[in-house]
Amino acid sequence: MLMNKVTIIMYHYVRDLAHSRYPEIKGLDAGLFKEQILYLKNHYSFITVEQLIDSHITGSKLPEKAVLLTFDDAYIDHFTTVFPILSENNIQGAFFPPVKAITEHIVLDVNKIHFILAAESNKQKIITEINQELARHRDEYSLQSNEYYYEKLAQPSRFDMAEVIFIKRLLQVELDEVLRKIITNHLFEKIVGIDEKSFSRELYMNTEQLKCMLRNGMHIGSHSFDHYWLNSLSYHKQKEEIGLSVDFLKSIGVDENYFTLCFPYGAYNEDTLRVMAEFNFKAGFSSKVDIAVCTEETIFHLPRLDTNDIPKSSHSEVNEWYAKG
Ligand SMILES: [Zn+2]
Repeated sequence: MLMNKVTIIMYHYVRDLAHSRYPEIKGLDAGLFKEQILYLKNHYSFITVEQLIDSHITGSKLPEKAVLLTFDDAYIDHFTTVFPILSENNIQGAFFPPVKAITEHIVLDVNKIHFILAAESNKQKIITEINQELARHRDEYSLQSNEYYYEKLAQPSRFDMAEVIFIKRLLQVELDEVLRKIITNHLFEKIVGIDEKSFSRELYMNTEQLKCMLRNGMHIGSHSFDHYWLNSLSYHKQKEEIGLSVDFLKSIGVDENYFTLCFPYGAYNEDTLRVMAEFNFKAGFSSKVDIAVCTEETIFHLPRLDTNDIPKSSHSEVNEWYAKG
């Protein structure tokens, strides 16, 4: 049986970091993005989402060293920085907007946390602020001690130091959802201090920009509505979250034969796959780090590499992922 391989790369912020209001934001610098595109042009063949789905359905072969670029969260960076570079090079990108941020001009909690971290270089100061908030709410929410949470959550990851992981995990997963929002909003106001609606318009693309990219050959897929960890939701709640994003995709004119879902945080479960089948999704993207090998089963949760896994210089030699791809 033919099993197509494809190297799928995941991007988030891509901006001119030196001239950004938040140079500390964990993003890819625009210059390095251009270099990475040149590197990929030298060694890989770019494919589109539609090619990936068609090849899967018809059993046809994808080019050797196929590569697909994916961009999560519909940041304005993707319209102003990424889109012109891709267009110039005749490359398709796949973009995944969290619908609520686009249509209701809110800032996702996950992004509030990014900018809290970027606006305060002394992470210990943020932790002190969090500890005061935990103390304030300890009785009402039956919280454990501050030390308990730090011990449990402060484990460094591939890209973040322990303090940062502690702040992210505490505010994204550990605490009760209501309390999580209270503390995140408190920190956002105190440390970032910008009106949420204005900040949202500055941070994300709008509907017209998404339509413009679609008209120009880019792929737009679902990233759910409210950007929750889907595996933490009931089947019915997942159906609602994904259903709202399907309505949005239809409203901007995405071809229903090529619906794709990119899981927020890469998180999904059996219920997610069931809902995807019900809405006739053709492919899904997770954040598991690997080369994608397309089968009947894996097509609904394809792994992706991070941009940091791929060289960012046009002259770089190929790395270990090239051999595997
Ligand atoms: Zn996301």
